[in-house]
Amino acid sequence: MCKKSETKREYTLSELSKYSHQNVSPDGRILTAVEGKVLDLTSFISHHPGGDVLYLACGRDSTVLYETYHPRNTQGTKTASKMDAILKKLQVGVLSAQTPPSYYTFDKNGFYPTLKKRVTERLDALDLPLRGGSGSIHLKAVFLLALFWSSLLLMCLSPSVPLSYLSSIIMGLTSSFIGTCIQHDGSHGAFSTSPLLNKLAGWTLDMIGASAFTWELQHQLGHHPYTNLLDTSNSSAESDPDVFSSYPFIRMHPHHEISWFHYYQHIYAPVLFSAMTLSKVFIQDVQIIMEGKLYHIDATCRYGSKLNRLRFWGMKFLSFLYMVALPIYFQGLGRGLSLFFVGHLACGEMLATMFIVNHVIEGVAFAEKGGGGKEERRPKNVRGETPMLKTQEKMSQKTDLNDWAAVQCQTSVNWSVQSRFWNHFSGGLNHQIEHHLFPSICHTNYVHIADVVEDTCKEFGVPYQHERSLGTAYRGMTRHLKAMGREVKMD
Ligand SMILES: [Zn+2]
Repeated sequence: MCKKSETKREYTLSELSKYSHQNVSPDGRILTAVEGKVLDLTSFISHHPGGDVLYLACGRDSTVLYETYHPRNTQGTKTASKMDAILKKLQVGVLSAQTPPSYYTFDKNGFYPTLKKRVTERLDALDLPLRGGSGSIHLKAVFLLALFWSSLLLMCLSPSVPLSYLSSIIMGLTSSFIGTCIQHDGSHGAFSTSPLLNKLAGWTLDMIGASAFTWELQHQLGHHPYTNLLDTSNSSAESDPDVFSSYPFIRMHPHHEISWFHYYQHIYAPVLFSAMTLSKVFIQDVQIIMEGKLYHIDATCRYGSKLNRLRFWGMKFLSFLYMVALPIYFQGLGRGLSLFFVGHLACGEMLATMFIVNHVIEGVAFAEKGGGGKEERRPKNVRGETPMLKTQEKMSQKTDLNDWAAVQCQTSVNWSVQSRFWNHFSGGLNHQIEHHLFPSICHTNYVHIADVVEDTCKEFGVPYQHERSLGTAYRGMTRHLKAMGREVKMD
């Protein structure tokens, strides 16, 4: 009886947000919403195969996370019936009928389910794991960690000034690769099948001075689910911080107001990119833990835990000791500090070069969740075109323009597709479309599924934009920034 009446209990999104962590929850429960159902995760969280990453779903509508992190969950499969049964068991209510509709739609039979089925079949046929990486990512991790520590030590101990600066640059570049090749996969649960190893891989970001928890909030709760989307209606949290966090200095999204200095942004943006990691380490991380939120994203699911806050401050202190205090001790105040900053600038520039080109580039679509009708809600490029309308012109069965997976393909761009070298070098960032559609698949496997994704896109009339190389992608990004500095504004 009790269960039946609870199942009918309606929750608004703001009510749901009070259940993001046991420490703030009014009754100690942690709740999430999936496809309109409100679920009680309190006792399930310790049984979740992905580990405590499930906390990221708490206190919010996590439909996108549910859809993207379970590639085997397609209609008619054993996994689907198992997961349906779990959802039924966990359900304690429903989302209020007043909840603002999402920007996205999820087709249960079309493009994304077909893609999931084909990709899982491909990896199964090659005997490659769907979750977690094989030997090459672990070998790469050991190499990068060894390179980071040895270059840090050489930077501190070398009596030669040029050698210490060279070591600082190598340390900075290695830090960016630790981010893209170890931490990124670890935090997505793609580094290993072991939740502990994934957590340790995620911690490597704390090792180099930034917080993996903050990263999770921005990347997994902001950027991934809502790529290039700006919620100007403020009706929900469907916004991508990656396209507005550098505003007003850089105007990436066509729905932002333009200022006179944006005219020059394609020239000065690369200089600002280099300061990106410094601002994350010293400003963004500290702001979030103090304010309890990152822009519109509530941070309680992570920073509501005392242990997590301890880890945050402990790692900040430790990393400050070996990355700032140690170089100062051995090289003196001025050189020690400048070595630290040079390393960060190298890291920021390399990171930005590899990931900004994937979403902020000529031809890619941007979306706005405003008050307008369906027509206005279409993802559009800066010329005001919806690329998918063109690719679907002659198709009898049309994929919805706001289908989540189809929007991901319109808002992401690949480069050097199927190149094993660039895939390893960038940690799979060159296969950005595959990464957004399948974030829990290890980046070393993207080369094996890229052709499946491209062919399925073609079949369903979904754009699959790819650039020949990182160089052409970078030039496309510069052209986009130049256009954004010259009054391109969407309706
Ligand atoms: Zn990612």
